[in-house]
Amino acid sequence: MNQDFATAESYKKALKFLFSEVRYLKGIGPAKAKVLKNNKINTVFDLFFYIPRKYLDRSEVTSINQLKTGETATVIGKVVSFGVVRGRTRRFVVYIQDDTGHLELVWFSGYRYLENMFAGNDILSVTGKVGFYNGYQMTHPEFEVISGYDDQTIHTRRIIPIYPETSSLKMVKLHSRGLRKIIKPALTYLEHINCETLPDNVRHKHGLLKLNEAISQAHFPDSLEEAQRGINRLAFEELFYLELLLAVRHRKRATQEPGISFPPPKTLGRKLLNNLKFELTKAQKRVLREIYKDMEKPHPTNRLLQGDVGCGKTVVALLAMLGAVEAGYQAALMVPTEVLAEQHGYILSKMLKGLDVKLMVFTGSVTGRKRESILKKIALGKVDIIVGTHTLIQEKIKFNKLGFAIIDEQHRFGVAQRGKLKSKGLYIDILVMTATPIPRTLAMTFYGDLDISVINQMPPGRSRVKTKFVPFEKRDKMYSFISEQVKSGAQAYIVYPLVEESEKMDLKAAKESYERLHRETFPNLRLALLHGRMKGVDKNRVMEDFRDGKIDIVVSTTVIEVGLDVTNASIMVIEHAERFGLSQLHQLRGRVGRGGRQAYCFLLSDKKLSREAEARIKILCSTNDGFKIAEADLNIRGPGEIMGTRQHGLPELKVAKLTDSKMLSLARQSAFEIISDDAMLMKPDNRLLREVLLKKFSKKIKYSKIA
Ligand code: ADP
Ligand code: MG
Repeated sequence: MNQDFATAESYKKALKFLFSEVRYLKGIGPAKAKVLKNNKINTVFDLFFYIPRKYLDRSEVTSINQLKTGETATVIGKVVSFGVVRGRTRRFVVYIQDDTGHLELVWFSGYRYLENMFAGNDILSVTGKVGFYNGYQMTHPEFEVISGYDDQTIHTRRIIPIYPETSSLKMVKLHSRGLRKIIKPALTYLEHINCETLPDNVRHKHGLLKLNEAISQAHFPDSLEEAQRGINRLAFEELFYLELLLAVRHRKRATQEPGISFPPPKTLGRKLLNNLKFELTKAQKRVLREIYKDMEKPHPTNRLLQGDVGCGKTVVALLAMLGAVEAGYQAALMVPTEVLAEQHGYILSKMLKGLDVKLMVFTGSVTGRKRESILKKIALGKVDIIVGTHTLIQEKIKFNKLGFAIIDEQHRFGVAQRGKLKSKGLYIDILVMTATPIPRTLAMTFYGDLDISVINQMPPGRSRVKTKFVPFEKRDKMYSFISEQVKSGAQAYIVYPLVEESEKMDLKAAKESYERLHRETFPNLRLALLHGRMKGVDKNRVMEDFRDGKIDIVVSTTVIEVGLDVTNASIMVIEHAERFGLSQLHQLRGRVGRGGRQAYCFLLSDKKLSREAEARIKILCSTNDGFKIAEADLNIRGPGEIMGTRQHGLPELKVAKLTDSKMLSLARQSAFEIISDDAMLMKPDNRLLREVLLKKFSKKIKYSKIA
């Protein structure tokens, strides 16, 4: 039984307290309430989850005459004088004294701020390293103005919290001092209520403190270890409820929403496999089984197919689509660029040779009568598989009977676009694919309630792409190497960065380089330029010629970043590699090394790199493993940057970090276990969880946003 678990009665009281607005707390007037609100602290709960940025050990206060040079100490004393001193170096000095002596506090910057901080006779609590220069001295100490003995018990003689003090023009500053004064009494109240909601077994299993202890220790800890335990529990709490929400949604979709049941495509599937020049890898077979199993259920499939660049997601996508086609439905494949749409159209059509399946490509480049004709065919059901770009979600397009939709390179799209594609049919199945291999649990959380399949294996015969950093001055040597390689049958890409802000200049630079390469560097080779501003037909011609071996080197902007698949290409040159992000570099490199030939990737840049750029290039040179690269990227940029938190509608986490994959896994596991046993949280033991879940999320996020 759940002994520590609050009873419904006692919890009602606790809930009322925790979710009441902070302005009802003692000592908070309208002004303070406003400051708190500006910092997104609305309820008592928010206040408790506003955790310290660090702690200061003031458990021992030292008399000035007991100070020792070189040690860190806390002193309490009265301000005698303060102000800027102009000597050899300008500095701001404050003298304080206690019953035993004088101490000098020194700052070498921030005078303006400091000038307003002190008044004569203020009592200060200061913590810092003790120095000696004509008397005891502390440079840039942590300090606080305190008043009266009561105050001392909150701000000194213990480990005290230092809070993040945000201040911007719009936000009024939150002072640690003020926060401590609000939080301490609230904690006293908290001691007397039972607000535990996590089931005992969950808490015990993960060695978590009780909620009220955790809050207390996180703010006014007995020791730094206890503070960490407190914070851990709060982090777990956040992740647990987030996962609980996802679990409820997932369960509901997978068992209650109506969907179409597609049996595996016996006839078409077998025919397609016979057409292939290769056998599927074990991993491909496994994920196909997972996908087919999902598709067969009479509920909507919502699955993410993850797999590193080049692992062979396209053929899996096609086999999945055939499931819908054989059952008499249409399937759509949406990709981020026209070049990729054309390529998929080409490759899939080749695979489909001899099968009675009609495939068409529909992009923005298709115009006029041809466009009308394709739209008509789609609407009448004369096309089975439609490959396209954003065009697929335009108003104009009406499917006859769309049953299955795939989004390739999903990280290039937003949740809204997925929703729109979904609305092109009734209860359709959705498969999204991405090569951005973020840690599994993180992916599951970011992509809401998606199920995940991972292809964790490369087709046989792939060799590691040799990756090298090439400083600009060694460029010529690299060019000779490329010449040699091309003479023996290799093909190459040379990529120039193109970022939106400086698009015109970048494009000009790329064009000029192309001219130079064409005329001076490789006069005897066949080169072609490829960039996003070219007409669709021209782009396609370049790619076709490259594929057919009629072009040796494609000089391009980043339009080739995703998806392209030319097996014979084995050299990738990336100009100004410092301007690309890690996953972008990995994607680009993934264009080569798909055939039998040893592949190379050259990263060009100035010798002098920023520290971050150097780190990126180092990682790339050291590994070909997309997961390792993704993890490094996660550490460098953070998950929000990578996946766009806002766009995904995830609630903001205050304590937990989504990068803490271990804790995320534990929280997810616990949450999903509970839901698998009690889908709607209706059992008496789970009623509190349900209430808290509703309280936590009903206002903050729309359930529908996590999809
Ligand atoms: P990605 O997962 O990056 O989209 P693709 O689907 O483009 O990768 O596949 C990369 C290349 O590997 C393609 O040329 C494809 O034909 C080939 N390929 C896919 N599966 C296999 C396999 N099982 N054996 C050999 N080659 C394969
Ligand atoms: Mg692909």
